[in-house]
Amino acid sequence: MQRLRELSRRVEAVYGEMADIYAGYQQARGLHCRSGCGACCLHPEIEATVLDMLPLAMHLFDQGTAESTLAQLEAAPAGNSCPMYQALSFDGKQGQCRIYQWRPTLCRTFGAAGYRDKHGKTALSTCKTIKEDRSSAYADTLIAMESDPPPMLSHARQQVNQLDYELSRSSLPIAEAMQLALRKVLFQACYSEVDIDQQIA
Ligand code: SF4
Repeated sequence: MQRLRELSRRVEAVYGEMADIYAGYQQARGLHCRSGCGACCLHPEIEATVLDMLPLAMHLFDQGTAESTLAQLEAAPAGNSCPMYQALSFDGKQGQCRIYQWRPTLCRTFGAAGYRDKHGKTALSTCKTIKEDRSSAYADTLIAMESDPPPMLSHARQQVNQLDYELSRSSLPIAEAMQLALRKVLFQACYSEVDIDQQIA
C-alpha cells in the first residue's frame, strides 16, 4: 500500500506542474474556457488510465468511500458521459466536475493544447466555443504558433505515464479506469492488512 500511496503522490505532483503549464498557456493566450462550460465532459469517449485515477481512488479510500463509490460505478450503465460530471443546465452543457482536484490527465489539457498533425507540424487543439468566444485571441495564437508553441497533449501523457508504465498501459473509458483504480487500492489495502496480521501473529 505504501508504494501505491507514494506513486499517487508523484502523480499529484505532476498534476500540479501541469496546472502551471497548460492553464498558464491558456491564460496567457486568452484561450480559457467559458465559465461553467462542461461540454467536453459530456463527450462519451473521455479516456483515462488507471494511473490517472489513482490519486482520486486513494483519496476516496482515505475518506472511507472507496467501496461505495465502486459499487455505484459498477451499477451505472456503461457508455454514458463521465460519471464525475454534474450537469447544471437542461441541455447538460453547463455543469461542473465533482472531482476537479483529482481529474485525470486529459481533462487537465481541456481548453487549448498542441498536437502533431498528419504532416508532423504542431497544431492547436481547441474547441468550437473557444474559437467563437475568443476569435481574435485564437487568430493571434495561430500566428504565434512558432514563436510561442502550445504545450503538447502528448507531453502531458508522457509525464504521467513514465511514473508507472504498467498502470498507464491502457487508455480506457474514464468510468472503467476509475473502477480498476479503486479495485487496485482496495486490494492492496486488504493485502497490507493480512500482511500486518501475519507479522503480529
Ligand atoms: S473527470 Fe471532471 S473534468 Fe474530466 S470529464 Fe469528468 S467531469 Fe469532466
